[in-house]
Amino acid sequence: MSATDNAPSPAAANQSDAAARLADIRETVTRAGKDAGRPAGSTTLVAVSKTFDAEEIRPVLCAGQRVFGENRVQEAQGKWPGLRTEFPDVELHLIGPLQSNKAKDAVALFDVIHTLDREKIARALAAECLAQDRALRFFVQVNTGEEPQKAGIAPHEADDFIALCRDELGLDVAGLMCIPPAEDTPAPHFALLAKIAARNGLAGLSMGMSADFESAVRLGATHVRVGSAIFGSRPRP
Ligand SMILES: *Cc1c(COP(=O)(O)O)cnc(C)c1O
Repeated sequence: MSATDNAPSPAAANQSDAAARLADIRETVTRAGKDAGRPAGSTTLVAVSKTFDAEEIRPVLCAGQRVFGENRVQEAQGKWPGLRTEFPDVELHLIGPLQSNKAKDAVALFDVIHTLDREKIARALAAECLAQDRALRFFVQVNTGEEPQKAGIAPHEADDFIALCRDELGLDVAGLMCIPPAEDTPAPHFALLAKIAARNGLAGLSMGMSADFESAVRLGATHVRVGSAIFGSRPRP
């Protein structure tokens, strides 16, 4: 066997890169939680694999990651049913906006939906969970920056909307989710989300992305949604 037989192929090098970055992020999450005095294992890392194909996702699965986030139903339908036959214990999270006409497909494919933000979609999802006998968990997305173009329920409407989802529609609301405005310091948005969750008796906080997940963990994130820091940068839309 010559020395070149042992040289990693470019594809293998990329795979070990993603696995190494994943290990780094897990370590950072653990350290930030510990520094903040939170119990070990309080934060779930959601690896955001949007725009990456099955071959790019597989090494991250092989490195032991099982919780993944996607932002488009159709894109996820193209790659996850196949990966799931290899890795049946995957938990799939929808983190992107959802139209009611996709509720049926979303309920069939995903385990957790982070973008519950209006009555129409809440009713459609509740009906689909019943029809398909599926028990999904939900996060209510709150538009903490009150940005007109952004999805999410307004902070002052959150309590009523949570009550509708939980009490009237019987949805399993695990917590709240936010995406702070790009130009703001995220910490005040994370703190506001935590405050709205606390007054509604909700334990889950889906907050923090590649750029700010450490701050989110310190402020109580139970789920951080990290994409580019694991998989590398995405082509700009
Ligand atoms: C893409 C996306 C992420 C991950 O973003 P990165 O900056 O790549 O970590 C997290 N949350 C939502 C809602 C996203 O759409």
